[in-house]
Amino acid sequence: MNKAKNAPKVVIIGGGFGGLQAAQELGNKPVEVALIDRKNHHTFQPLLYQVATAVLSPGEIASPIRRILHKYKNIEVILGEAIGFDLQKQTIKLLQCAAGPNELSYDYLIVAAGARHSYFGHDEWEEDAPGLKTIEDAVEIRRRVLLAFELAEREAYLTGVRKPLNFVVIGGGPTGVEMAGAIAGIARQALAKDFKEIDTTKARVMLFEGSDRVLGTFAEELSEKAKKQLEDLGVEVFLNSFVTDVEENRVKVGEDWVDCNVAVWATGVAASPLGKTLDAETDRAGRVFVQPDLSLPNYKNVFVIGDMASLKMENGQPVPGVAPAAQQMAQTACANILRDLRREPRKNFKYADKGSMATIGRNRAIAEIGNWKFSGYFAWLMWLFVHVISLIGFRNRLSVLTEWMWAYFTRERSARLIVGDAEAMSDSRQLLEAKAATQIPTLESQKNVVKTA
Ligand SMILES: Cc1cc2nc3c(=O)[nH]c(=O)nc-3n(C[C@H](O)[C@H](O)[C@H](O)COP(=O)(O)OP(=O)(O)OC[C@H]3O[C@@H](n4cnc5c(N)ncnc54)[C@H](O)[C@@H]3O)c2cc1C
Repeated sequence: MNKAKNAPKVVIIGGGFGGLQAAQELGNKPVEVALIDRKNHHTFQPLLYQVATAVLSPGEIASPIRRILHKYKNIEVILGEAIGFDLQKQTIKLLQCAAGPNELSYDYLIVAAGARHSYFGHDEWEEDAPGLKTIEDAVEIRRRVLLAFELAEREAYLTGVRKPLNFVVIGGGPTGVEMAGAIAGIARQALAKDFKEIDTTKARVMLFEGSDRVLGTFAEELSEKAKKQLEDLGVEVFLNSFVTDVEENRVKVGEDWVDCNVAVWATGVAASPLGKTLDAETDRAGRVFVQPDLSLPNYKNVFVIGDMASLKMENGQPVPGVAPAAQQMAQTACANILRDLRREPRKNFKYADKGSMATIGRNRAIAEIGNWKFSGYFAWLMWLFVHVISLIGFRNRLSVLTEWMWAYFTRERSARLIVGDAEAMSDSRQLLEAKAATQIPTLESQKNVVKTA
């Protein structure tokens, strides 16, 4: 590595939207940079739901961090998980994964470890209603969704029984709306002609939202339009409906249990637990209260950015937990580090809202840019354009564009792979053998198989 002599050392925790932007801001600047992430790749989270619903493959929305940053001579990328800090000694502790030192020192620290979904104190619900945050989550949800159709087809073929096929999405924010619309798309279009025994178009997709509208951060008229677009796709939208319990193959809504083959959790945010180790106050979601220049109250050389940071805008509203906010925070934090080095005063963070958009399905989306509000086909085209240009790497852009065009014209999903589940396959063989011996077990007696769906 070509290190500037005696250059201050900046350590960045996290290679997501905030951390990656920070590294790029400091690339080839008079500092030595180390970026630590527990994954070797940056994930483009806005398109995770398309991996979960078999439109895209994981590699199309994730890129190796080392590759993205290879052109900067002053940046080293470290695979590792930060587990704590000594802010006095200016060191970071890494999870020990091999013999050797597991501590790293810094002059400046930028913490951008993001957030996960919160189960509001019921982490045990995660097993039966996984959330969507990482590539692993998306592949697991894809497995459950596709397997649900396969198991229903198998049961119908072996026993002649066609049970209802229910999908439940919990939370009517952008991720919940996108997931519900995309699952409806799979059932009604992509799979419809491929199954012989079951009618996939009869699958129910239910979206439960606790408040009185979906996409609550958008203008009311757009929420209304989004709900209508979801219903046109066949999604049943239940408002003012709190999920109060989750068990295997069912969720409790208010006082009533609703059976489901697959449940997806798409609500609640919990900042990285690293925030609690930073000797600073946190809000209810675990976000760290930062100063207007994004530093910690008692440590001017430590910045917290992105989904981990809690800061109010001039209008009193919190800075939203979105990718542009994380990237803009990275720009401010890095500008302040470079200002320190030039002995210039720091500047405060100011969020520039470039608008928001959410897609509901084929030809359907909503967008709000300042006072401009769009819905339907035009909003959908805008959504496609913004997401393609925001993807990292020309290869990914080209590949995603090709997949989308293919899916648009053929209505097919090219990433319909169930991976990592040999158990269901072997049980399938047992069922076929049993059928040959005219001893057909019911799916009730095969609960371990259904559990995987
Ligand atoms: C499904 C989904 C859809 C979304 N859609 C949109 C959208 O359409 N538009 C939009 O603007 N925003 C969207 N968001 C929000 C957006 O992705 C986040 O606001 C943004 O990623 C926050 O950036 P960040 O850098 O704070 O965290 P992240 O991008 O989450 O990055 C955190 C990084 O830190 C790493 N990490 C975590 N803990 C550790 C540790 N202890 N040690 C080392 N590394 C660690 C992680 O591996 C990860 O790479 C979406 C989020 C999700 C989950």
